[in-house]
Amino acid sequence: MTEETAISPWRGPQEAVDLYRDLASWRRGLLGSAETVDPEELSLALARDDGSPLAARLDWKASQREQVRRLAGQAASITVAHRPPLAAAAEALRPWLEREEALEAAGHALRAEDARVEELARAASLHPALTAFAFEQAAAVLHTALAAEAGEALARRQPAAGSCPLCGRVSTLSRLEGKVGQRYLYCAHCDLAWRYARIACPYCGNEEPELLRELVSDDVPGVAALACDKCRRYTKRVDLRRVAPPEEWLVADVQTLYLDMLAAEEGFLPAHR
Ligand SMILES: [Zn+2]
Ligand SMILES: [Zn+2]
Repeated sequence: MTEETAISPWRGPQEAVDLYRDLASWRRGLLGSAETVDPEELSLALARDDGSPLAARLDWKASQREQVRRLAGQAASITVAHRPPLAAAAEALRPWLEREEALEAAGHALRAEDARVEELARAASLHPALTAFAFEQAAAVLHTALAAEAGEALARRQPAAGSCPLCGRVSTLSRLEGKVGQRYLYCAHCDLAWRYARIACPYCGNEEPELLRELVSDDVPGVAALACDKCRRYTKRVDLRRVAPPEEWLVADVQTLYLDMLAAEEGFLPAHR
């Protein structure tokens, strides 16, 4: 049974939470209008499983790249509303979005090649982080729609290194669900969850219980950073048998930054791509 703890595990920092909340509701509102992948193309890509993320195996259409380029402008505007110092960077991005390179960037974002988007931004003297973030958020709209379609098929395969089978990004959060506490890893980019071994490090595969540690915050039961002494990385873990889920999973990562700090204090590294 789920019950509310005395202190909510879903906390600040407020500024970041507000930004991600706005982006999440913008993304959710767009889900119905996201251009979906052709079913035949999708089943071919699913069958062609070479271990790479599904998004990188798809042949994204011009109209989908077009949609991502348009949405990137909206994502930049939402971001700037919460981060006023980036206003000039967003202004510089706007005319560039009309150019051919922006369509190229959209194609990279759809294939989850964030570094390539940053390269294009640098070459055009744009703000690399803002540009990559805006395109990532825009592509996430289409990836989330795809997750709803292909999630079940993707969940059947055991992904390597704790990375999302759809976009390849490393999961930073896992949750325990149901009576037995089945573990799921979660990708906040695609809003996709997939089953994973209960006692194991998603990054190095370590299954030795004595090399896995739970770092907990004394006043918030039910959430922990599961740290691995073998690869020195950690993943955040939420036990839904003990805490109520967040209002919005897309915001859960920034709401649990106190767990990242806890892990950093103990000398553990965050997981990265
Ligand atoms: Zn993903
Ligand atoms: Zn490990």
